[in-house]
Amino acid sequence: MLDILQFLPAKRKQSSSGWISFNAPCCVHNGENQDRRSRGGLKLSDEGWSYHCFNCGYTASFVLGRNLSYKARRLLSWLNVPQEEIERINLESLKHKSIAGLLSERQQTANELQGIHFEDRDLPADTYPLTDSAEEYLRNRNISLNYPFFYKTMPRPGIVIPFTHNNQVVGHTTRFLDDRIPKYIQDIQPGYVFGTDLQSDAWNYVLVMEGVFDALSINGLAVLHAEINDAQVRLIRSLGREVIVVPDQDAAGMKLVDRAVELGWSVSMPEWPDCKDVNDAVIKYGRLATLITILANKESSKIKIELRKKQIVKRIRN
Ligand SMILES: [Zn+2]
Repeated sequence: MLDILQFLPAKRKQSSSGWISFNAPCCVHNGENQDRRSRGGLKLSDEGWSYHCFNCGYTASFVLGRNLSYKARRLLSWLNVPQEEIERINLESLKHKSIAGLLSERQQTANELQGIHFEDRDLPADTYPLTDSAEEYLRNRNISLNYPFFYKTMPRPGIVIPFTHNNQVVGHTTRFLDDRIPKYIQDIQPGYVFGTDLQSDAWNYVLVMEGVFDALSINGLAVLHAEINDAQVRLIRSLGREVIVVPDQDAAGMKLVDRAVELGWSVSMPEWPDCKDVNDAVIKYGRLATLITILANKESSKIKIELRKKQIVKRIRN
């Protein structure tokens, strides 16, 4: 009953990258023409599925054990799944609710109470699966291709990185692949922190960095600029872990250090010659070695953090 494939149009095909494509049912509901070029894409995972329309940008996902989201319900109804059937799928899903699901639900309720809430967003229209050269770019930065990246060409070629929260898309950033400025363009909601969905329940600490590629490199969080605003602090605290800030080793990053000290969080500034940030270190030393040096250089003493910061400031000036 939870097999989504039975509801998809009969005319569909599967690509080597795992996308099952068929004519998207969403576009006509989003002010676009009926798709006739099989631009609706669905990917199955161990625990559910995610849908993305490469034409109008509509996204929806489903995780077994969770309630069907509003957007997943809409998608199913556009696929002509009767309302009663949608309710049955929801009930069936909740029967598979795991401990992890219950914990995440409790976390979600706590977040709502603290005013941590993000609305669902679509991804940009006219996106594509990654091209070979875009995959090459990510591989060169030592980024796992398991994350659901997309590719777009307009107005400039770039990689679209969905921002998720509780596995729902709530924004995105595009990293342009030409050398022009700006390098990024973002659709970000106030107080958003990237990477909460990358965290494992078993971890006692959480690493906080500036950039999205830093976070993707070692499953950390990204605050997405060189400051941590109060709403982001609430969200990071709500994870209930020891927080270790790993700043970029540049002038802007040092502002992040001051903020971390103010918040009473630990800071780690490993000696990584020629590396400006975590992603540089992961490219140079690999993921595990980078993680080990971060944990080995974790510092919570304010004085020691200041001393280390001075060394870095001196190096930046030289
Ligand atoms: Zn669509």
